[in-house]
Amino acid sequence: MDPNLYERYSRQILFGEIGEAGQERLLKSSAVIVGCGALGTALANLLTRAGVGKLRIVDRDFVEPSNLQRQTLFEESDARESLPKAVAAERRLRAINSGVTVEGIVADVSSKNAEDLLAGFPLILDGTDNFETRYLLNDAAIHFNVPWIYAAVVASYGVTMTVRPGVTACLACALESGAATESQSGAEDTCDTIGVLGAAAGVIASIEAAEAIKVLIGKGESSSGCLMSFDVWSGRFQSLRVGKNPECRACAKHDFRYLEGDAQPHLTMCGRDSVQIHERRRQLDLPALSRRLAPTVAEVRENGYLLRFRVPPYEMTVFADGRAIIKGTRDTSVARSLYSRYIGA
Ligand SMILES: [Zn+2]
Repeated sequence: MDPNLYERYSRQILFGEIGEAGQERLLKSSAVIVGCGALGTALANLLTRAGVGKLRIVDRDFVEPSNLQRQTLFEESDARESLPKAVAAERRLRAINSGVTVEGIVADVSSKNAEDLLAGFPLILDGTDNFETRYLLNDAAIHFNVPWIYAAVVASYGVTMTVRPGVTACLACALESGAATESQSGAEDTCDTIGVLGAAAGVIASIEAAEAIKVLIGKGESSSGCLMSFDVWSGRFQSLRVGKNPECRACAKHDFRYLEGDAQPHLTMCGRDSVQIHERRRQLDLPALSRRLAPTVAEVRENGYLLRFRVPPYEMTVFADGRAIIKGTRDTSVARSLYSRYIGA
């Protein structure tokens, strides 16, 4: 190994389970992280520093002041500029380790683009905030026959499980069959309703990063395969062995309904008081849209990645891929009507 690289990673190479051979493998490896919030930023930071060769980061959202308490790659200026998280994360990670190829993609992973965004990566990592996308990742990982690591965090606790198709149980084995209760799986509450501690995200992201490194250096068998949960407030740690369900929709019957798009709505709740509209029929010309809207709506801002404006009491954020997040309502018909009025039917 190049002496500079050896020096950079020397403390990790000294750890016997990794060693020089493991580091060499890590440097040639790659992974895709879906979602770059509290878990995704902590995970991307650890893996970039560890020397994973290539990281793709896919995120649909932009940085806001309320993210800074726990999303460790972002700074106040990112929130002021409303930078997309994928763009801000890519910049920061490149500064942390210029030897890693980092690719930030502003997109919402769905059945329509999952193949394009995820195929070719030997590991898929969960940094998402919703079960719709997690079931999609589970379907995709089994379909591509690559491992993926599920992770979720809310309030003071989080959960994670490494799924190796053909070897371990999958997310559907664990959750759809009722092997784990909702509170064991992290499926019941969200960060927007009961909050989340940065410390809890840090613990779960750290376990996820360690699991990722095991898989990427070919030591996936060192992974427990258990559904692990940790509560940083009570100090309670649980490790639940989940058996493969021989009747599992996903890993046994290969019913990939999330990947095939049968379960994807066009409108989804996105945060406490927001609705996201997914429109992928066309790319939007944001500067042109900005000029068209300027005379009729308030506070139009455009930063090259997204366009934001206010139609009191609502705020609309529109992305170049046609998506929009409408803040100030939980009513999907209100969101739909604002979208067609200002962006187009
Ligand atoms: Zn399964």
